[in-house]
Amino acid sequence: MLKYLFFDLDNTLYSCRWGLENNVKQRMRKFIAGFLNTTPDEAWQQRTAHIKKYGTTLEWLITEKGFTNVEAFLAAVHPPDEADSLLPDPELKTFLEGIPIPRAIITNSPREHADLILDKLDMAELFTHIFDIRLCNFKGKPHPDFFNHALNVLGVSAGEVLFIDDTPLYVEGFNALGGRGLLLDEDNVYTDYAYPKIRGLKELYQYVR
Ligand SMILES: [Mg+2]
Repeated sequence: MLKYLFFDLDNTLYSCRWGLENNVKQRMRKFIAGFLNTTPDEAWQQRTAHIKKYGTTLEWLITEKGFTNVEAFLAAVHPPDEADSLLPDPELKTFLEGIPIPRAIITNSPREHADLILDKLDMAELFTHIFDIRLCNFKGKPHPDFFNHALNVLGVSAGEVLFIDDTPLYVEGFNALGGRGLLLDEDNVYTDYAYPKIRGLKELYQYVR
């Protein structure tokens, strides 16, 4: 029986078409270039070559590059005006509210970013909890400790939770714990993906009946 829904935040509760995540990546490129004293292209090439071993860009920087100024990184990639263009989707909010299962956010972003986005989307009250990247010492999805932390706080097992995310690595991490992961693949990019996936959140109704 489903007892909780876990939602990713970025490019899950709002469309990738808003471009917010692309802007985050552009700011990461610049920040990493500054830290590594190289060009943004070279910085991103290094990141792309190594990121597969890690859940996040930040984790790669900390582990392989000896990076320590985590709060400066988060402030640089998440400026206060980052979501100024984002508009709410009242229809989606009503749809989510109609699902009689409690909801939580599980994000690899910092709490202040989650609060900002949920405020812009007018969805803050839909979620009982927000689990963010600071909670497990900057080890987020797909690390089992992060998922387990959320499960323990909420008193549910992975098998009682449906987790929706637009990143296959994170969904598969939750599946590996015995959870029910669902990939949100808005543009049908992951054509070889072998597990359940949806193109939009409204398809959730098939999974929560
Ligand atoms: Mg996402």
